[in-house]
Amino acid sequence: MNRSRSKELFERARRAIPGGVNSPVRAFRSVGGDPPFIARGKGALIWDADGNEYVDYVGSWGPLILGHAHPEVLEAIARAAACGTSFGAPTEREVDFAERLCRVVPSMQKVRMVSSGTEATMAALRVARGFTRRDKIIKIDGGYHGHADCLLVDAGSGVATLGIPGSAGVTEGTAKDTLVVPWNDLAAVQQIVEREPVAAIIVEPVCGNMGCVPPKPGYLAALRQLTAKHGVVLIFDEVMTGFRVAFGGAQARFGITPDMTCLGKVVGGGLPAAAYGGRAEIMACIAPDGPVYQAGTLSGNPLAVAAGQKTLELLERPGTYERLEAASAKLVDGIGALAREAGIPLFATRVGAMFTGFFTDGEVWDYASAKRSDTKRFGAWFRGMLDRGIYLAPSQFEAGFMSLAHDDALIDRTLDAARATLRSL
Ligand SMILES: *Cc1c(COP(=O)(O)O)cnc(C)c1O
Repeated sequence: MNRSRSKELFERARRAIPGGVNSPVRAFRSVGGDPPFIARGKGALIWDADGNEYVDYVGSWGPLILGHAHPEVLEAIARAAACGTSFGAPTEREVDFAERLCRVVPSMQKVRMVSSGTEATMAALRVARGFTRRDKIIKIDGGYHGHADCLLVDAGSGVATLGIPGSAGVTEGTAKDTLVVPWNDLAAVQQIVEREPVAAIIVEPVCGNMGCVPPKPGYLAALRQLTAKHGVVLIFDEVMTGFRVAFGGAQARFGITPDMTCLGKVVGGGLPAAAYGGRAEIMACIAPDGPVYQAGTLSGNPLAVAAGQKTLELLERPGTYERLEAASAKLVDGIGALAREAGIPLFATRVGAMFTGFFTDGEVWDYASAKRSDTKRFGAWFRGMLDRGIYLAPSQFEAGFMSLAHDDALIDRTLDAARATLRSL
């Protein structure tokens, strides 16, 4: 596959942009090789600057659950744009959208729009801290919630560790209020909340940023009980899982009611929009009603709201999630069977339309076990698939995403590529 034009662009990009990319994982550092520069997309397909075609399982990292350039979404954006792109004043559109979001995710009695998932989680934590008047928060080892300072914290070793900065530029003062526990480990959370006051625990109800790692049966329900008992605000970061593992998100799929929810990705229909919401009592803390400040020049942007509104409208049609489930099962079960045939150890995980194949012979239930994967082998798998026209997330620790535009023929094309790639490993 010739990618000379992409190579040229990458050289130029590296001179003008740090690492040549506007978000680190796009640079392909963990899989080797240079990234294709994408020129356009339509449905489940994308084309790079050299004209190579790929079946896309990244979907802009989740938002494009309807596929690229969906005509009805494009039309909604164009119509909104014709009336002006931003006012910084309230609009009817925002009210319609907020009402829809609260109806679809009923644990959100009120919702505030922001422009990125990072903003949503950052604001939700500030609100939780303002509401409880407590400082400490708990996050999951390997959980990703955007790049706010207090969330860029890694776990050390041990079960429940004091946070240490996971990025240069994050102060120890900030990190020390973030406590880190392993995913699926209730005892670790219990030890902390019984020992000291904690404002909030933030979890991805299905982890997606260590690869897809589902909750163990009963874990989320137990977490709900424990946090309620200790007055800890339970925040579901559904930026990835919202409208993805079920229309109402993971909380609908598993029947758990969090105190607060963060949405992003799908909610913006491919434009920059995100949201956070929760119990009315908690949301009452936000300015101008309450003392917690949070604002945004482009919050509730008309174009983003139009794209999100149309996307949710199309997703709400009957049968959507059954189709996503069936397509995802066909792909993931298919690759699992091909790996067994080829004698390659693979632990495949999937919840709804998000999934990961971990190259490991053990089971994966947290970040430590995810990290036992053979990342070298993943790199070879990734490059083999890319050269066969299949665009996967360029890291073992990212989830794959199915869209409604992936039809049987494209999934068969993917399985053919997988068969050849797995045999070559
Ligand atoms: C992508 C993601 C974020 C960050 O969203 P951005 O829009 O990239 O800032 C936060 N939380 C989760 C679970 C995510 O997957």
